Amino acid sequence: MYTPDLNRQPFPHSTGKIVCVGRNYAAHAQELNNPIPERPILFIKPGSSAVPMVPAFSIPVDQGEVHHELEIALLIGKRLRHASASEADLGIAGVGLGLDLTLRDVQQELKDKGHPWERSKAFDGSCPLSDFVDTRRVPDWQNLTLCLKRNGVLQQQGNSAAMLFGIVPLLVEISRTFTLEPGDIVMTGTPAGVGPLKPGDRLEASLQDWLEVETMVMGGQDVSV
Ligand code: ZN
Repeated sequence: MYTPDLNRQPFPHSTGKIVCVGRNYAAHAQELNNPIPERPILFIKPGSSAVPMVPAFSIPVDQGEVHHELEIALLIGKRLRHASASEADLGIAGVGLGLDLTLRDVQQELKDKGHPWERSKAFDGSCPLSDFVDTRRVPDWQNLTLCLKRNGVLQQQGNSAAMLFGIVPLLVEISRTFTLEPGDIVMTGTPAGVGPLKPGDRLEASLQDWLEVETMVMGGQDVSV
């Protein structure tokens, strides 16, 4: 079995942009009654939305439900612009876990009006990130398991094999529209099982047996703990 170089790269303190993919697992698109997309749905969170996932992170408490979306996060190590598949593969410096926090009620309101999603997905603190593990020798990007427990109860479990757009093709596609720079992050979409978070929740998240993260949800806008 493949074991990555466990030289951890700490949470990047100056994160670039974060390119996110919506509805990349069919079961998640279906749970929110969304059609399955023909092309990747892309959106961006600014670097200012990134916060460390541990030991705790804060969620807004006055804007309706905040949903967890646990995702495989990629740390970009090389500039990717109109990248080939092998350039994309070599351009990944690390893999970790990210939470694409979503103000679900606000998002529904914005979607109903045909407005952009940013207020619901790109707010300060909306992207808690774990450390990243070095991935230069990952043999198969399409067999990575991720898992999220909330207060000891399994909420989300997925495998990248179920992605509609796999990790390398996704980077190729993204790099045709957005040049990826070293320090940028790509969030690869969430499997089914999204749901609301509450202050006081304890979360355990894992990626393969490479990363195991325990954290706590705090209330309020102040993301420093
Ligand atoms: Zn997401």
